[in-house]
Amino acid sequence: MLDKNSILICDDEPDIVSLVKKFLQLDNFNILTCSNGKEALKILEEKYDEILLILLDIMMPALSGFEVLRTIRSKDSYNNVKVILFTVKSFKEDIEKGTELGADGYVTKPFSGNELRSYVKDVLNN
Ligand SMILES: [Mg+2]
Repeated sequence: MLDKNSILICDDEPDIVSLVKKFLQLDNFNILTCSNGKEALKILEEKYDEILLILLDIMMPALSGFEVLRTIRSKDSYNNVKVILFTVKSFKEDIEKGTELGADGYVTKPFSGNELRSYVKDVLNN
């Protein structure tokens, strides 16, 4: 059995991806990254049994984070994968829509690295 210790970061801004990766590696997670929703679904399909959590940007070209989340929550095999959405601001509508679609949490950009680290751990422990 594979070790379930991976976090997938999906954001179309490379700077965000590398920053988040840098912080979460401090907690010894294995980090997978991608820059669009299509790739995220492909990685998930191949590695869902090792992915604990996805940090998913909402605002991405082509496939939005909401659409990716909807697809994730439509598959039983992904039930145990937690999803945290990145929101640019705390748009109330985004949070409502995300909750409705089955998000486990939200991170508002810009974020503090240490807050992000503890938030990720909180979501994983829930
Ligand atoms: Mg974006």
